[in-house]
Amino acid sequence: MISDGAAAQLPLWSEQDASWSVRESRRARRMVVRVFHSGRVEVVVPVKTPPGLIATFLERHRLWIERKRAEARRTAVVPEPFPPGSIDLPACAQRWRVHLAGGSGRVRLASADGLIILSGDVALRSAQRAALRNWLLERAAEVLGPELEACAREFGFTYERMVIRRQRTRWGSCSVRGTISLNACLLFLPPAAVRYLLIHELSHTRHMNHSRHFWQCVARCCPDYRQLDRLLSEGWRAVPAWVFGEGEA
Ligand SMILES: [Zn+2]
Repeated sequence: MISDGAAAQLPLWSEQDASWSVRESRRARRMVVRVFHSGRVEVVVPVKTPPGLIATFLERHRLWIERKRAEARRTAVVPEPFPPGSIDLPACAQRWRVHLAGGSGRVRLASADGLIILSGDVALRSAQRAALRNWLLERAAEVLGPELEACAREFGFTYERMVIRRQRTRWGSCSVRGTISLNACLLFLPPAAVRYLLIHELSHTRHMNHSRHFWQCVARCCPDYRQLDRLLSEGWRAVPAWVFGEGEA
C-alpha cells in the first residue's frame, strides 16, 4: 500500500548520485547517516545490510537529512576576495572597513575608528595578509586581555599571564605555570562563546584536566557550557580565509 503522502515524494537518493555514498563497515552495529559540510551524505551500514533496509532507514531520516543538506548549502564556503572589503569581529561587536590606499614600497597598515588603511604596493598580497594578521593579533590582545582579567576577577581565578596566538586547531590553552594562551580568531565568534572559552581556560588553573571536578567548576561559572562548547567546535567556519590561507585570490 502506498499512502498519498509517500507517493508524492521523490526518491531521496540514488546510487548514481555522487554526493551519496553507502559504506559497509565490519565495526558498524547499526546504520548511521552523516551529512558533511560539503553536503555529501555518507551512510555507514553493517556488512550485508539489504538495500531495502537502507532505503527504509533513509526514508525515516529524510527530514533530518534534507534539513542538514539545506544547511550545508547555506553555509557553503564562497571564495572570498582579498583584501576583504570589511572585517567583522562579533566578539566585540565591531566592523572594520578595509581601504587599499595604494602608493609604492612596503605595505603599511593604519587603523582607527573602524577603518583599516593598507598603503604601499597593492600587488604585495602576502605582505598585506601579514599586516592584517598582525593587526588581528593586536586587536585580540586589546579585546581579550581586559575580558580575561574581568572574568578572572568575577569568579576569583588567578593566572600568571596571557598570550595571544593565531592557531588553526585550538581556541585556547592553559599551561601548568598559569599562562593562558588565546587564539586571536576568537574575535570572529559570538561573545557568549568567547566568555565560555575564557572560563574554560581559567578553570584549568584549578584543574589541569577535563575531570568531573573541572566540568563542575566550568558549569558553576557558565551553566550553558555544553551548548557553547558545541558552538566553539563549529566556530572555525567563521574564520575568514585570509587569516590562514596563502592563496593569491
Ligand atoms: Zn580544556
